[in-house]
Amino acid sequence: MSRRSLHLNAPDATVLRARLDRMKEAAAGTGVLIAPGSDLRYLIGQAGGSFERLTTLVIPADGNPAIVVPKMEAPGFGDVPLDELGIEVLTWVDGDDPYAVAAARLGKADRVAVSDFTPALHVLALREALPAAEQVLAGPIVRELRMRKDAAEIEALREAGAAIDRVHARVGDWLRAGRTEREVGADIEAAIVEEGHERADFVIVGSGPNGASPHHDVSDRVIEAGDVVVVDIGGPIPAGYNSDSTRTYSVGEPRDAGVLATYAVLQEAQQAAVDAVRPGVTAASIDKAARDVIEAAGLGELFIHRTGHGIGLDVHEEPYIVSGNELILQPGMAFSVEPGIYSDGNWGARIEDIVIVTETGVEPVNHRPHTLTIV
Ligand code: ZN
Ligand code: ZN
Ligand code: ZN
Repeated sequence: MSRRSLHLNAPDATVLRARLDRMKEAAAGTGVLIAPGSDLRYLIGQAGGSFERLTTLVIPADGNPAIVVPKMEAPGFGDVPLDELGIEVLTWVDGDDPYAVAAARLGKADRVAVSDFTPALHVLALREALPAAEQVLAGPIVRELRMRKDAAEIEALREAGAAIDRVHARVGDWLRAGRTEREVGADIEAAIVEEGHERADFVIVGSGPNGASPHHDVSDRVIEAGDVVVVDIGGPIPAGYNSDSTRTYSVGEPRDAGVLATYAVLQEAQQAAVDAVRPGVTAASIDKAARDVIEAAGLGELFIHRTGHGIGLDVHEEPYIVSGNELILQPGMAFSVEPGIYSDGNWGARIEDIVIVTETGVEPVNHRPHTLTIV
């Protein structure tokens, strides 16, 4: 540990410095402005907070980066090794024009890339401060770095995967007829933290007909014997990397006689998609691998979303596993494989694992059984 001790879970300064250098290289002459959030955490180890007062990391095409930050928010970056990263701190106080400060730091730029989740009030004010510069999204630049995870990031995703697996292993303790989804969800939420997450980011307990709504939350519906229940849960571990895993349960034998045959199709589809993952194939081909199985069974209309999403510091990030995405998969990419079948008004089922593209194939980070788990 250096004297300037880092945020406990941040990568060390050497790793961050390399990311900043690669960022500048990828920007290829475009100035970049990074707002607080996961992009900022990726680059400097600290996400900061987004407010009406402007905080932005300025990465000029020429010269060193700087962080423009309200003087009152600057202590929040006290753990960041700014000197080692070569980042100058430009503080401002109420009454100053922070947009002019950022613009001056960028210098003469024809194009300015702003991070995707910069609040509109800052984007529009920056446009006024840089009238000659074309504004573009920084997402396509940042994703080139963030999509391919390094060894430490992959280890963090494995850790997150193991933690959420331990929660799924305990779901049978709580999921019972006579309890509400909300009660079950509260137990799961506590376990997510107990098993090593910083917090729960989402807890979906979709019982019976609620399972047919992919982004259902929890409700006061009382779970009944024979219900099929979709449990989709996740959150960040302290290093910032997220888990996201779905398993489908049945409270006793499923009431609807067609469930087992349909579920078998889903399980085959999910496995086909996982098996298709390797470097050199497109993201779209993974979606197709799952969809082909479900369509061949005549159930295509019931699979109403893409097959997956990238995951890392954000739960949903690039690469998206969706029809039309011709992005070529490369080692280090991490994403979910989560086909679902949703019978509106009756029941739904989804199986979701996070997988990592390896040099030769695929490594899932979730290992709970894929079968319909009878509790
Ligand atoms: Zn989702
Ligand atoms: Zn999920
Ligand atoms: Zn997901």
